Amino acid sequence: MGKILVSGCLNGRPIRFNSTNVSVESEIWDRWESEGRLVAFCPELAAGFPVPRPPAEIVGSTASVVLQGVGRVEEDNGTDVTDMFVDGANLAVERAKAEGCVMAVLTDGSPSCGTTYTYDGTFRGGTVEGMGVTAQLLQDQGLRVFPEDQLEEADRYLRGLA
Ligand code: SF4
Repeated sequence: MGKILVSGCLNGRPIRFNSTNVSVESEIWDRWESEGRLVAFCPELAAGFPVPRPPAEIVGSTASVVLQGVGRVEEDNGTDVTDMFVDGANLAVERAKAEGCVMAVLTDGSPSCGTTYTYDGTFRGGTVEGMGVTAQLLQDQGLRVFPEDQLEEADRYLRGLA
């Protein structure tokens, strides 16, 4: 049975930078949970960040460029946290492989978990299309990634794998 790597803050613990979680109200999610498919994982906690923590954004770059060792992730106080974000992404890939995950459903907008958009690096609330560092590395490693508001598409993909 295919397992699904899911962001640890989705219907989970209040572990986002601002000590919140993200609720997902969906029969699809409930079914996946009852089938034992969900593997909850937070790359930022795995990398050693505390809760709460300063907001972080990919600055003037993209997740791919960060993973190439060129781009940067910074906190709003200017601290460079790139290495920890890359560590978290690698740990997520390790966990997904160890658990036999066939896809991932991740919290959109996060500099780690975003799958369709992230914040634009100015810390002014603007967004840009693109992925977070973990989502990008999971995709680069061949795992399909979906945001939490595309569960029907994700479920169709899962059924297509069966
Ligand atoms: S890194 Fe991902 S799993 Fe962790 S709190 Fe942020 S969005 Fe949620």
